[in-house]
Amino acid sequence: NQSCPDYSNEQLRMISEHPCYDPKAQHKFGRMHLAVAPKCNIQCKYCIRDNDCVNECRPGVTSKVLTPQEALEKTRQVLEEHPFIKVIAIAGPGDPLANDETFETFKLIKEEFPNVIICMSTNGLALPDRIDDMLDAGVQTLTVTVNAVDPEIQRQICDRVVYNGKLYKGKEAAELLINNQLEGIKRAIEAGIVIKINTVLVPDVNDDHVVDIAKKMNELGVFIMNIMPLIPQAEYAEWRVPTEEERKAAQASCEPFVSQMRHCRQCRSDAYGLLGEDLSQMSEERRNMVKM
Ligand code: SF4
Ligand code: SF4
Repeated sequence: NQSCPDYSNEQLRMISEHPCYDPKAQHKFGRMHLAVAPKCNIQCKYCIRDNDCVNECRPGVTSKVLTPQEALEKTRQVLEEHPFIKVIAIAGPGDPLANDETFETFKLIKEEFPNVIICMSTNGLALPDRIDDMLDAGVQTLTVTVNAVDPEIQRQICDRVVYNGKLYKGKEAAELLINNQLEGIKRAIEAGIVIKINTVLVPDVNDDHVVDIAKKMNELGVFIMNIMPLIPQAEYAEWRVPTEEERKAAQASCEPFVSQMRHCRQCRSDAYGLLGEDLSQMSEERRNMVKM
């Protein structure tokens, strides 16, 4: 009973080659994250800004920020060694839409590697304003982190956003973020971008609410939902991490509305290789062993 749009053959091919969108693809095809986007335009209460964006990526080690030219050179080198990598993504360390380098990088890559899948993740605040730029840059698959569709819940997770140069706080900030996410997702889907959402499961804050998120995403035509456990940091440093059972229960409650991703590895924003096998963290020797 999902209201996913009818996908074109091209979209179905992308889905089948994207290791995060299709669990069957995770053992065959890889992805590479390029850390070119350090700035962020919101403040999630569980985020230490010096680390990678925890909406998409594992925190703890800050990725080295690359220039667009360095990112192109890294792509050349990695794709030559590992042609099984099909997806080139920008996921941080901040919000890709808050950094013009994201678009410059994708343009350089698309010119030289027209067959890779261009993927991005975002908190969605700037999404309605940047759809055209994203299409120009060739973005085909997009992850938006949606932690709430109710501003009273969202404000407990994020209550500060900077939009068009103005700081918004409290419920007003939460409302703005939600409205832009929903509008942005709707327009991205209309433009042919295939959407995944990430939802950070925060016990006693949005755990009873995830099913409302899934229902809304069903209405919009989101392809897949990835419920991720809270990583306790910053204002949430002392918070409880959801148990495996709680996460499974949340996924089960959402499954009737949006397909669930259950194989996320919470990658760093500079990870590359197969999902379970981050080559950026491997020794030279081991990297050569897995060369394909
Ligand atoms: Fe941190 Fe990512 Fe939230 Fe920005 S969007 S505050 S980088 S978790
Ligand atoms: Fe895929 Fe999850 Fe890694 Fe993102 S963090 S690339 S969704 S496995």
